[in-house]
Amino acid sequence: MSAETRLGFTRWARLAVALVNTAPGERHRDFLTTPTQLRDLLLAFDEPEPVTVSDADLVDARAARSDLARVFAVTGDEQQIAERLNELLARTARPRLVGHDEVPLHLHVDAPGSTWGGWLAASGAMGLSIMIAEHGVDVLARCAASRCAHAVLRYGPGPARRYCDASCANRARVAAHRAARAASSTAGGIRYSHGHDDR
Ligand SMILES: [Zn+2]
Repeated sequence: MSAETRLGFTRWARLAVALVNTAPGERHRDFLTTPTQLRDLLLAFDEPEPVTVSDADLVDARAARSDLARVFAVTGDEQQIAERLNELLARTARPRLVGHDEVPLHLHVDAPGSTWGGWLAASGAMGLSIMIAEHGVDVLARCAASRCAHAVLRYGPGPARRYCDASCANRARVAAHRAARAASSTAGGIRYSHGHDDR
C-alpha cells in the first residue's frame, strides 16, 4: 500500500469507497456477508492488528455501507451530497484527540465505544467531507464503464480518474475501440453505396 493511503483522511475516504463497492451489483455478488470479509477489508486498508470483528460489527458495517452509498447516489449534486454527509457526520462522528499507552496523541473520529461499523461510518463521512473540501464535489463519482455502478474517488495527479479499477478501464478501452472500428466500417459502407447509387 502506498504512503499516500496511510494519511488519515485519504485512507478513510478510500476505505469508504471500498466499503460501498462491496455491495452486490452487475459485476459481483455481495462481498460483505461475513465478519471475516469485514476483517479482510479493514486489514487491506492498513488497519493495524488486532482487528477483531463480531456479527454485530458486520451488521453495523452493512448499515454504514448503505449510509455511504446514499452519498454516492447523488454524485454531482452539491447540496444533496452536503446534506447527506452532514447528517451522517452529526449522527456518527465525534472527533477528539486521544493518547493511549505509548501512543502519542492522535485523532479519533468516531464516538467512544463505537463498533467497527460506527467507525466506518464516521471515518468514511469525515474522509469524504475533507476530500470534497479540498478537491471539490466532483471528487465523488461513479465508474464510467458500462454495467458498473462502483463508486470512484477522482483525485490525484494526471487526468481525473474515471474507472473503479483496471478491469473496467480495459473493458471501456476495448468497447471504445470496437465502437470506433464499427463507425469507420459503417462510414466506408456509406461511401461505397454512394458510389453505386445508380444501380
Ligand atoms: Zn467499474
